[in-house]
Amino acid sequence: MKIMAVNAGSSSLKFQLLEMPSEEVITSGLVERIGYYNANFSIKVNGEKVVVTKEILDHKVAVELVVEGLLKHHIIESLDDIKGVGHRVVQGGEIFKDSVIITDEVVDQIRSLNDLAPLHNPANITGIEAFRKALPQIIQVAVFDTTFHQTMEEDAYMYATPYEWYVKYGVRKYGFHGTSHQFVSERAIQLLDNPKAKLVICHLGNGASLCAVDGGKSVDTSMGLTPLEGIPMGTRSGNIDPSVLMLISDKEDKTFAQVLDELNKKSGYLGVSGISNDSRDIIREMENGNHRAKLAHTIQIKRIADYIGSYYVYMGGLDAIIFTAGIGENAPEVRAHVLDAVKVLGVEIDHEENKKRGEHLITTKNSKVKAYIIPTNEEVMIAREVLRIEKL
Ligand code: ADP
Repeated sequence: MKIMAVNAGSSSLKFQLLEMPSEEVITSGLVERIGYYNANFSIKVNGEKVVVTKEILDHKVAVELVVEGLLKHHIIESLDDIKGVGHRVVQGGEIFKDSVIITDEVVDQIRSLNDLAPLHNPANITGIEAFRKALPQIIQVAVFDTTFHQTMEEDAYMYATPYEWYVKYGVRKYGFHGTSHQFVSERAIQLLDNPKAKLVICHLGNGASLCAVDGGKSVDTSMGLTPLEGIPMGTRSGNIDPSVLMLISDKEDKTFAQVLDELNKKSGYLGVSGISNDSRDIIREMENGNHRAKLAHTIQIKRIADYIGSYYVYMGGLDAIIFTAGIGENAPEVRAHVLDAVKVLGVEIDHEENKKRGEHLITTKNSKVKAYIIPTNEEVMIAREVLRIEKL
């Protein structure tokens, strides 16, 4: 059975068509610059990328193009070949404790969370509505970035701010990258053959978050009300004293929204190094002796180690640290320095294994805490969720 996994942004739409339950990728593609006259639609046909540049005014037109492309290239013979569509939705708030079949009411509920994720949820809804129009007879499922973290206890998700802020406006930690943390932790549990395993998942991509997983459940995570909280990332600052907002707003005559935008888009690797948001550039320049590139790297390593230490204490132990996403899967320097920073926990890295790619163990036999690389796959997780929810 074919299932489509969709990730809609404000001007983009990524999709993957998967054969389930074998999880084989049939095709994938991307529509970029939606709303512009020179939008791009690309789709893989027999492994080759076919690209069309044309005016694509909105998501509805983008979805029609995707469907047309699938039929035209004989990837599907009829729309009935697609049994379900899974949509990534960033913020599910406290409403969605599980993935859900999309109805009009569900769309309204997702919309009611727009204040919590103004950059993401409206775009996700646009994608959902376009697919519901184009494929009305096909079941659509919303899979939320936040759902996996809904198992956190109050002491982990509440901020020590006025309680009314939580009651009136939902101010609390929600956490993100849930589909990735879930996918990777399920795999780690299989590899360790221990359903009770205590894990720290390090999802290190351009956006980055850590998750403490105890017995398959998220018990804490580093991102918060928004993805800005936690460790420094490609362009995000991670945790800072909120008073910085006031100071910079006064000194540079900027609104809070402008300063917040700089904390989201001009901080992290990019802000500290002044060079790039890409870890490849940071590592190269660090090795060339650039102080600020090294600082951008070492601040991040320290913060990651801080979280791992605190999760070790919170869970009362740790079986494995898992690295995933662009940096976690591909940057041996970052993994080596993180593991070195937490060696007091009894972690002993195997430097030879750490240089290799793909899913495998990167610690020695003597290591008390294991470490693995496990490539993430959010699309497969979304497709699995569609299958599970559809069967309910
Ligand atoms: P996101 O989904 O958050 O955009 P990804 O998980 O795709 O991010 O990760 C992207 C990041 O991964 C890039 O910004 C880059 O820093 C890092 N990356 C990708 N490939 C490599 C590599 N070979 N070595 C080091 N870092 C890499």
